[in-house]
Amino acid sequence: MSILIQNGTLVLPEGLVQADLRVEGAHIVQLGPNLPAGDSQCLNAAGKLVFPGFIDTHTHFEMNKGTPRETADSWETGTRAALAGGTTCVLDFAEPESGCSLQSALDEWHSRADGHASCHYSFHMTIVDWNPSIQAELPAMTQQGITSYKVYLAYDGMRISDAVAYQVIKAAAKEGALVGCHCENGDLIDQAIAELKAAGRLAPSSHPLAHTAGIEAEAVGRWLALAEQAGVPVNVVHLSTRRGLEAAQAARSRGQALYLETCPQYLTLTEEKYQLPGFESAKYIFSPPLRSQKDVDALWQGLAGDEIDTLGTDHCSFCYNTTKRLGEHDFSAVPPGIPGVEHRVVLLYTYGVKTGRISAVQMMQALSQRPAKLFGMYPQKGSLQVGSDADLVLFDPDYRWTITAAGQHQNVDYTPYEGMEMAGRVDTVLLSGQIAVQNGALIQEGLGRFVPRGPAQFWR
Ligand code: MN
Ligand code: MN
Repeated sequence: MSILIQNGTLVLPEGLVQADLRVEGAHIVQLGPNLPAGDSQCLNAAGKLVFPGFIDTHTHFEMNKGTPRETADSWETGTRAALAGGTTCVLDFAEPESGCSLQSALDEWHSRADGHASCHYSFHMTIVDWNPSIQAELPAMTQQGITSYKVYLAYDGMRISDAVAYQVIKAAAKEGALVGCHCENGDLIDQAIAELKAAGRLAPSSHPLAHTAGIEAEAVGRWLALAEQAGVPVNVVHLSTRRGLEAAQAARSRGQALYLETCPQYLTLTEEKYQLPGFESAKYIFSPPLRSQKDVDALWQGLAGDEIDTLGTDHCSFCYNTTKRLGEHDFSAVPPGIPGVEHRVVLLYTYGVKTGRISAVQMMQALSQRPAKLFGMYPQKGSLQVGSDADLVLFDPDYRWTITAAGQHQNVDYTPYEGMEMAGRVDTVLLSGQIAVQNGALIQEGLGRFVPRGPAQFWR
């Protein structure tokens, strides 16, 4: 079957172009003005922006499975929400249990996702243990299409030493794989939590005090020092502070190649949320936490200057009325994470493109093109060109609506963006050439497939 998307505004790296686009089967087969309809099904995209499908570089679906801290969104509900919001591919984090092989985690994540996903997906592999047998698994990961890794410099049970981080960076590079890092100083977080608890400061408002900007900036600087020593590009995930950005800028000014991800929450909300009454601010407990308006402004400048490369949500949803309340009497026991996979695209359009902070082309680059390149999926994904996958988003910039928990697909009882008015919405989504969202409504589920990835394609 073929579909002709007519009179749309294609968002290409060189700019906005009025043209038609034809899809046949699962691929883009033709681009150009006034294409003949032939026997194609026609979609009128007049007044709409046509983007390559958006890629969320950072999700946690079905995490802590089988425990009281299990996330609210499963692969089924999380990928449905992603697709409804214009995200056609997610990169989730496979996390081995301590003492277990990478293969066991990969098999487990496949068993959770395969046949249950409504958008396409792949996995980053988290390294929590490091020894010769784990290291020996890396080539097998590459062969199975896993070409990115993640390490943590904080969190008991996850965090690794500087020496291990350095070794992981070097070993992954031999596979053409990229390593991303959760950059916070774990020792200082633990110290701050102990001090706050000893002082009886157990409310959610203590959370940001245990995750200060300095705690992030130190770890960003250290992570980049390890990468510099290894002589290899690395990624920083969920950058949240001006000081962290400055540490990255300083490294770049010395000639170091590195990549930066931030998240919509750090661009649209501030630390004022931690002053909400009662337990309410537990809705905003995630790490790193919300920051000041100065940090928000710096991150927008980073995006506008193409210094920040990608935008992932760090979607990790916990129900407020149940799971978050595990920490009702101790902020450090609140499961950290927020929902967001559904709202990333429209938030970036509303707060970025509509306000003039960034262009629609920059939005396409941050949400689609650069994630595809960095994570080894380009030009199969991340591009409107003949031969690319027909994962497409038709975005209506004139539609107005308000985000509410009641109206979301995410399987969680709140949204951090409740009541925020959006400029524009995802009108139509094609997934592998099939119409999955139409007039803003999800009409096809379960079409998501695993995407085996190649090596990173670096541009820095
Ligand atoms: Mn993290
Ligand atoms: Mn995360």
